[in-house]
Amino acid sequence: MGVAPVVLINEGKAARISVRGVVQGVGFRPFVYRLAHEHSLKGWVRNTSGNVEIEVEGDRERIRNFITDIEAKAPPLARIENVAVTFQPSKSYTGYEKFEIYQSLSQEGKYQLVSPDIATCEDCLREILSPTDRRYRYPFTNCTSCGPRFTIIEDIPYDRPKTTMHRFQMCPRCQQEYDDPLDRRFHAQPNACPQCGPSLALVDSQGNPVGGEDATSAASELLKAGRILAIRGLGGFQLACDATSEEAIALLRSRKRRPSKPFAVMVATLEDIERHCLVSPEERKLLNSPESPIVLLRWLQSSSDISTSVAPNLRYLGVMLPYTPLHHLLLRESAIPLVMTSGNLSEEPIAKDNDEALRRLGGIADYFLLHNRDIYARYDDSVSIVEGVPRVMRRARGYAPYPILLPFLSKQILACGADQKNTFCLTRGEHAFLSQHIGDMENEETLEHFENTIDLYKKLFRIAPEAVAYDMHPEYLSTKYALELGAEQGLSLIPVQHHHAHIASCLVENGVESPVIGVAFDGAGYGSDGTLWGGEFLIADLRRFQRAGHLEYVPLLGGEAAIKKPYRMALSYIYTLLGEQDQKLSLDGLPVSKLHSAELDLLKQQLTRRINCPLTSSAGRLFDAVSALAGVREEIEYEAQAAIELEILAADEGDEFEGKPYPFSVVEHQGMRVIKLGELIAAIAEDVMNQTPIPIISLRFHQTVALMVLETCKSIAMESGINKVALSGGVFQNRLLLRLATAALQGEGFSVITHHLVPCNDGGISLGQAVIANFSRLS
Ligand SMILES: [Zn+2]
Ligand SMILES: [Zn+2]
Repeated sequence: MGVAPVVLINEGKAARISVRGVVQGVGFRPFVYRLAHEHSLKGWVRNTSGNVEIEVEGDRERIRNFITDIEAKAPPLARIENVAVTFQPSKSYTGYEKFEIYQSLSQEGKYQLVSPDIATCEDCLREILSPTDRRYRYPFTNCTSCGPRFTIIEDIPYDRPKTTMHRFQMCPRCQQEYDDPLDRRFHAQPNACPQCGPSLALVDSQGNPVGGEDATSAASELLKAGRILAIRGLGGFQLACDATSEEAIALLRSRKRRPSKPFAVMVATLEDIERHCLVSPEERKLLNSPESPIVLLRWLQSSSDISTSVAPNLRYLGVMLPYTPLHHLLLRESAIPLVMTSGNLSEEPIAKDNDEALRRLGGIADYFLLHNRDIYARYDDSVSIVEGVPRVMRRARGYAPYPILLPFLSKQILACGADQKNTFCLTRGEHAFLSQHIGDMENEETLEHFENTIDLYKKLFRIAPEAVAYDMHPEYLSTKYALELGAEQGLSLIPVQHHHAHIASCLVENGVESPVIGVAFDGAGYGSDGTLWGGEFLIADLRRFQRAGHLEYVPLLGGEAAIKKPYRMALSYIYTLLGEQDQKLSLDGLPVSKLHSAELDLLKQQLTRRINCPLTSSAGRLFDAVSALAGVREEIEYEAQAAIELEILAADEGDEFEGKPYPFSVVEHQGMRVIKLGELIAAIAEDVMNQTPIPIISLRFHQTVALMVLETCKSIAMESGINKVALSGGVFQNRLLLRLATAALQGEGFSVITHHLVPCNDGGISLGQAVIANFSRLS
């Protein structure tokens, strides 16, 4: 017999397995460890910079079952993209004596997906609420299923020394949990307890300690007493106050210089939310998810004691559940719903360090609840709605830096986004790493945040871009940054048209590569002809686009001023599109006629002479104009306020009222369709003068815009043979319009794609830019 049986025994009994996806920081290695024991396999598992590697030896059948179970039974937070298996030749059989977890392996150039921060899990919540537990009321409790990840990671592989937890030496009991593969906290990098982990401190706005030993209960008392607190959270500071107190909210609004933009609230439990809002099963699921975003819910103002000044004039309320142990404790101990808003002044980035917060928020907050676990990456709360499906409006905590999967392999590209709601995007292989919400690029702080976050992503995902994509707008700070960076590092520079980027982002998140009719409606983007586009119909794919139609141009009366003062847009439409006789008629009896005649004359002159009156086809401005025309909102205090207030006043489609769209016409000239708006404006003006109820005007207007979308798409489809439509751009945050336009298009046999993973607003632009740049010829 000789040695032959030994060879036979070893045949096919060893396998090398490589798992890719979010598999670090989610309890994946202990899961593999337990699984190997269940299947009586020997070998090892380890994290590398690129993936999780496993080697197992044992019965072949057992190995096969083990591999099946890796995918079938993976921990809840793991997201497996790929499992590669190679059965080893018999000569490589090592004869391991046990199954072990090996040291992580750093590999040059390889990268790993990084888990977003995860809301406190039920097991950890039970511990912090249980008086006999050693983590009772400990605000930094976490485990492998929950807690901070992305906000504390400095580099990969994800191990404690490469996180901001490295300064905390685990006590023997925490170390024991950390070392025990059967423990819930096995290799939970942020593991901590009251003996060894981060701690809280309550100070006044001068930085003087207050409140004694128990900072959490002292903070809760202050909140109940109507004080404004700055709270150091997961990804930065939040400002909190009693959401039922008119006075506290008024004070917060005046100090934060935010007169009426809605605030989000945090409510202790789902049951509590149901006292304030209507919650659908889909919305409940989203509120309760590990991502735990702010969800915009229908507000039941009759049964809610949350002050209407939290979201003045609105029917939707942004609500979230507590997502850290500290939030759970504050919400339970204060027993009031809390306004919870980013710790910043108007449009600055969220403050993240203690001294920075004291400096920047000292004029806003009465007290500061600080801690000493450093935040490496700033991270705002995410905002979502459920309209048919969950749709993200601001993508940050809980989502970033999880990538968007591309339907192709991409070059390494940096796309710089737009200046509003900025995000950037870095691509590599099948992944598009869309950054968390950075903010509006209008100050030094935001630009610095943008640059630092780009550096972090480049480091974490080992990306060295060969090209830089940017918006065509020459005045965007993101454009200037791109041009400088490109020149400095000799990278290819690729300008991308704003609305093409919108449509491409919608295509790519839906995995569509064929050409579509792209409807891009937003405030404004720089057009290829130097005018301000914003009501666009494109024939587009991931490579190129052709403008096939747009809303009629009108002057943006006074540039920026027209955006802040929608009544200027109303006047611009009236003076530009209506005849002399109509203008006179229309102004009498309209809310705009209340303006001082001197101002009216001045604006009229400005229009005639075209002083600071760039032309725009913006759909956003059309909504503004109609809102002002109807007297809903003539000046705004936050972006899109006029359009939002017009939308929420619309009558329900199911009401008695028989919807009849307003008149409009589409004229064609040399393959370009222009939607003429004069009749529409005249008809709305007439309705306003006849005192038609605003809900009816609003609904009819929304139906008209949906019909404009349908009619124009039908005309383009007739010519191009394309019957797939992509809806994108910030105007489609309007739920009523989204619903009406989608239904109208589907009713005529169009297939419609919309956004769900990335924002339809400018927060999604960078993804589209990156993809378009990938297909353009790099120089
Ligand atoms: Zn947990
Ligand atoms: Zn400890």
